[in-house]
Amino acid sequence: MIVYLNGKYLPRKEAAISVDDRGFLFGDGIYEVVTVYQGHPFQMDAHLERLQDGLRALSIQGVDVDLFPEIGQRLLKENHLTDSDSTWYMQVTRGIAPRNHAFPPDDVPPTIYMAANSLHPNARFADKTITAVLVPDVRWARCDIKSISLVANVLVKQHALDSGVQEAIFVRAGVVTEGTTSNLFAVFNGEVHTHPKTNYLLPGVTRDVVLTLCAELGIPVRTIPILEQDLLHADEIFITSTSIEIVPVVALNHQPVADGSPGAITLKLKMAFQEMIALFLKQQHGEINSKS
Ligand code: PMP
Repeated sequence: MIVYLNGKYLPRKEAAISVDDRGFLFGDGIYEVVTVYQGHPFQMDAHLERLQDGLRALSIQGVDVDLFPEIGQRLLKENHLTDSDSTWYMQVTRGIAPRNHAFPPDDVPPTIYMAANSLHPNARFADKTITAVLVPDVRWARCDIKSISLVANVLVKQHALDSGVQEAIFVRAGVVTEGTTSNLFAVFNGEVHTHPKTNYLLPGVTRDVVLTLCAELGIPVRTIPILEQDLLHADEIFITSTSIEIVPVVALNHQPVADGSPGAITLKLKMAFQEMIALFLKQQHGEINSKS
């Protein structure tokens, strides 16, 4: 597999990072994940915008995020992924410098890494449902930054797996915010609720797509905090992310959500999401045909 590291395309085995890289020493960096459907990155502008916001939040200079789509296309070609589903992984750290918390001098270039990974169709969770547990949010107060410092998420995800469920949902001051790797939605009396965008959750790209789909389908939405005690009585719960799209949560804290099967609004949104991808691909193919 060929990956991109600091201007070079090279075999993954040869891509090496310095022990003085601030990503290694401090987790001082950010990342982004994009799903590439049949060679076409979905919601790329939104992902690049979030990457740019993260770079600004961390004051990392000298990265032209507009180069990522080009690098990504080359990685698809190098890895024979132009016609299949894959994901793009992008990571930027503050670069290589002797270990010191203070920022290194301005002339230290950031470390830029990108890879294209094949996405097996099963990985797209098409007909999957998941179970989840609630856990206290032990993370910092800048969860809106897609930081590579993911140790809290790692610990909590493992706790979920050890408890026999697939995802953990964070609770902060009695309010549910998001999952360890996903945003959270709940349905109450036909209304879709999700936490507003604040510093306590990642502004998910899929979250925005779902809100757009709700508007198109005439499904009422409220972006308000959901209380932990209310979530336990939700009519439907689902989580969203770039890699899993929309997945129904059918049990919470080892109790079924409503009757324990995916809810009607969740299924409607899942279908609308698939139609959106199909339309996106048609547009992409149309554009390519009209250019050639
Ligand atoms: N919250 C967290 C903590 C995540 O790690 C993710 C996945 N990146 C999400 C939400 C969902 O974001 P997106 O829809 O942009 O993948």
